[in-house]
Amino acid sequence: MASIRSAARSAVHYLISLLSGPWYALRGCYRQFRITPTATRLLGPQYLRSRDAIEIDITYACNLRCTNCNRSVTQAPDKTHMPLDMIEAFVRDSIAHNKRWRTIRVLGGEPTLHPRFLDILHVLRKYRGFAPECSIQVVTNGHGKAVQAALRKIPPDIRVENSAKEGNVQPDFGPFNMAPMDDPAFRSSDYANGCSIMTECGMGLTPGGYYQCAVAGGIDRLLGYPHGRASLPRDADDMLDLSRTLCRLCGHFKDGHMIPASLRAPLLDEPKSAAWVKIYADWKHHRRGTRSAATPAE
Ligand code: SF4
Ligand code: SF4
Repeated sequence: MASIRSAARSAVHYLISLLSGPWYALRGCYRQFRITPTATRLLGPQYLRSRDAIEIDITYACNLRCTNCNRSVTQAPDKTHMPLDMIEAFVRDSIAHNKRWRTIRVLGGEPTLHPRFLDILHVLRKYRGFAPECSIQVVTNGHGKAVQAALRKIPPDIRVENSAKEGNVQPDFGPFNMAPMDDPAFRSSDYANGCSIMTECGMGLTPGGYYQCAVAGGIDRLLGYPHGRASLPRDADDMLDLSRTLCRLCGHFKDGHMIPASLRAPLLDEPKSAAWVKIYADWKHHRRGTRSAATPAE
């Protein structure tokens, strides 16, 4: 019976991938058209940053070193933690501007490694006195005893999304460090188009400030944080300047949307284009001296 069930499951997966392949191929073609300057001028950006969902990277410390980590935790390890008063200011500003978040996701790095992790959750839970419908979520790798012990202390009204990672190689990740600006096929793209992450996962708050997405904040960390907004942006602010500056470095820009792992070849190494080789080299150099790395030339 079990083998019949498993055969049926495989048949369904096969059918789905057979049908979804052409759909994603079509979406890919549309993406190529959509990010041209002409299409962007006529239709506006393909994706806009979220107004009701936010991801907060509270730390860049992590107990794993995953390949192609899109916060560069592996490529440029750093134990920067977000100060608690940044979370307090976020809650204060959200209430002052009548901002009713649908979701607040707490992540990093591995968020449970932040020394004030439970205090941060406490501050965010107080925000729910103002917006009771807000879903607060913790995104964790679930790896190791210390992380699991911290997870057990999370209050039950907070949702935990546990990816239960077991090792450093993540074949399902995308090639984050392949900058579109280094690829002739994307050189004339309008980077204001961003990608679906800023719409679907949310805008970002990181130790460097507010961004169109938290991935962008992780990129800006390597540049010395010159770009983030210092305070909660108004809804009228599409943050297109940040997309134009930071999406050109981000490998997620190329596909522009999530593609199921079954339709992609597993990624077993960590490719880096020229811009990223330079960014990491500059970052390592500046860590030894002053921290003022510049954005790579357009
Ligand atoms: S667990 Fe997450 S933050 Fe940590 S290295 Fe892996 S992908 Fe990066
Ligand atoms: S391309 Fe990268 S930096 Fe730009 S919105 Fe998407 S995830 Fe964020």
